[in-house]
Amino acid sequence: MLRVGLTGGIGSGKSAVAARLVELGAVLIDADRVAREVVAPGSEGLAEIVAAFSDRVLDADGALDRAALGAVVFADEAARRRLEAITHPRVRARTAELMAAAAPDAIVVNDVPLLVEVGLAPTYHLVVVVQTAVATRLDRLTRLRGMDRVEAERRIAAQADDARRRAAADVVLTNDASLGALHAAVDALWRRRLQPYEHNLRERRV
Ligand code: ATP
Repeated sequence: MLRVGLTGGIGSGKSAVAARLVELGAVLIDADRVAREVVAPGSEGLAEIVAAFSDRVLDADGALDRAALGAVVFADEAARRRLEAITHPRVRARTAELMAAAAPDAIVVNDVPLLVEVGLAPTYHLVVVVQTAVATRLDRLTRLRGMDRVEAERRIAAQADDARRRAAADVVLTNDASLGALHAAVDALWRRRLQPYEHNLRERRV
């Protein structure tokens, strides 16, 4: 199996790259999705969060109220660490489970927004960083996603910058032009760096 870590700032185009890689044959593990799954209603993770932060972090349906939880851990370092001690090991375990379920010759792409911040780069065979100018990301987040501009700026400021992400990258995909241009770059990455691996793995049956 080839483990590919995919990251980039908010609104850089990670999902667009991931979707193209899936079309080409990769198996996707979306860290945001796994993070939601491990705190879904009825999960052990959610029970632990309620034990730690009380049921004021639940909404009327008993699901996790992310805004309420965010307000509790925002600007409270100890609370944030307590939350991460509950969620991170569960996300890691579930990701390992999903990886183990993939075929031995699979190319598994793990889309992890905070891959660099959390120090996960060494756990992948290849780290792909999507890099997009901040102005373009702000434009896409506000225009296409309806995100509030101040909120988008705040989120961008809370993440690592592109220079830090680039330092951890094996491959940098720049997404400042059209989606067609991004797809062409992903196709080239697949042909040159990923597909040869798949063939090798198949031939060696490892
Ligand atoms: P997040 O960090 O929030 O998960 P992301 O990095 O996954 O974001 P995407 O959702 O892939 O980013 O892209 C953000 C928005 O910009 C989406 O609406 C997407 O369709 C659009 N987009 C991505 N790349 C391009 C492009 N080259 N041209 C035009 N729109 C694009």
